[in-house]
Amino acid sequence: MRKSHLIKPVLGNDYPVISHGKGIYLYDKEGKQYIDGSSGAITANIGHGVQEIAEALWNQAKHVSFVYRSQFTSDAAEMLAEKLAEYAPDELKSVFFVNSGSEATETALKIAIQYFQEQGVFTKTKVLSRWTSYHGITLGALSMSGHQLRRQRFNSLLEDFPVAPAPYCYQCPLKDSYPGCGVRCADELENIVQAIGAEQIAAFIVEPVIGASGGAIVPPDEYYSKIRAICDKYDILMIADEVMTGMGRTGKMFAMEHWGVIPDIIALGKGMSAGYTPMAATIVSDKIMNTIESGSKVVMSGHTFSANPQSAAACLAVLHYIERNNLQENAALMGDYLQNHLQRLQWKYSLIGDVRGKGLLCGLELIKDPMTREPFELSNKITDRLLSICFEKGLLVYPAVGGVTGFSGDSILISPPLTVTKEQINDIIDILDQSIGELTNQLIS
Ligand code: PLP
Repeated sequence: MRKSHLIKPVLGNDYPVISHGKGIYLYDKEGKQYIDGSSGAITANIGHGVQEIAEALWNQAKHVSFVYRSQFTSDAAEMLAEKLAEYAPDELKSVFFVNSGSEATETALKIAIQYFQEQGVFTKTKVLSRWTSYHGITLGALSMSGHQLRRQRFNSLLEDFPVAPAPYCYQCPLKDSYPGCGVRCADELENIVQAIGAEQIAAFIVEPVIGASGGAIVPPDEYYSKIRAICDKYDILMIADEVMTGMGRTGKMFAMEHWGVIPDIIALGKGMSAGYTPMAATIVSDKIMNTIESGSKVVMSGHTFSANPQSAAACLAVLHYIERNNLQENAALMGDYLQNHLQRLQWKYSLIGDVRGKGLLCGLELIKDPMTREPFELSNKITDRLLSICFEKGLLVYPAVGGVTGFSGDSILISPPLTVTKEQINDIIDILDQSIGELTNQLIS
């Protein structure tokens, strides 16, 4: 066989070569069909092979594909920023474009720090976060990520920003239980702020629904309003990392809308382009932008490909597609349908400890003992094993390591494109049922 020069995620593993995709299906070059039950990495929100997105890319490319943002703006980037501002809360109307979710959260971090510097405050340089979180792979974004597996090699280069307990009721990090706990995990932030000193803290970042490091963990209803109040009390900005949850995935355009809480900065990525181009964004409040505008006037961030016209045209076409096909509503309806069926599987298999999520961001936590909620030892590789059984049977699901530190525990995300139908969900459930059955048999034999 010819030697591959491409560095793959796991060296030595065989990856099928993709041929094409259509709707929720992908096909490899051997002709095998896969149901994209995870939208790739919760990204392909409108499904694969949508012709009008390819046309939007071509129509823009015919005129101009690239301009440098310090020399020109473009209609495509202006219109995309306008569209995002239209979706965003009234208080957030300015958009900074980047190319990945990591860059979006890292830009949020930089803007938060800059906001205070513009006011002559140079001590507020920490952006606190929660354990059991993932905000990206670049060093700033990783500094904010409570994801031990991804941090451990680079710890000496990282800031210790994850400090707060996650609102993870199924495996409460404070060993408490809801509602008796009074949502102590939120109150804990205030103790942490007082211990560190508010004068050092620029922002607190949260994933509205915890995705990659926890498997669709949804906090209790009161959680975010408590967090917002603590941030306001101590002059700390609140950043919503909606990279995974944004653009209709949870049944609302932004997941934070479920709790009626308005952050100061929103990071977007993934579903914004639905994978048709690498593009992401940071949406910033007027309060912050007015401060920068009456100060240095320059947001100290940016990349060569920021606000790329061709990418912007693709994203704009994706957002129009989401609107025209009511995909946000479909995500809410199909999400309920999917969760009901996942709960049916939970009654059948003791391996499934918890079923959770919002809209079409759904998760299953796999546990050794449903009574004690004891997780499997890492060496059992439960998540990997379930993933390969599903893959073999033509279903793609997404691994989300769980546990209090994001280092132990097993969970998966089931998050098909927002176009998914009931019949397609039935097919997903059938394969999951067979796969979990097979894994259960392996474990008892
Ligand atoms: N933020 C969240 C919530 C994510 O889930 C991810 C990726 O999974 C990122 C940030 C990083 O995005 P990217 O992989 O595009 O850099």
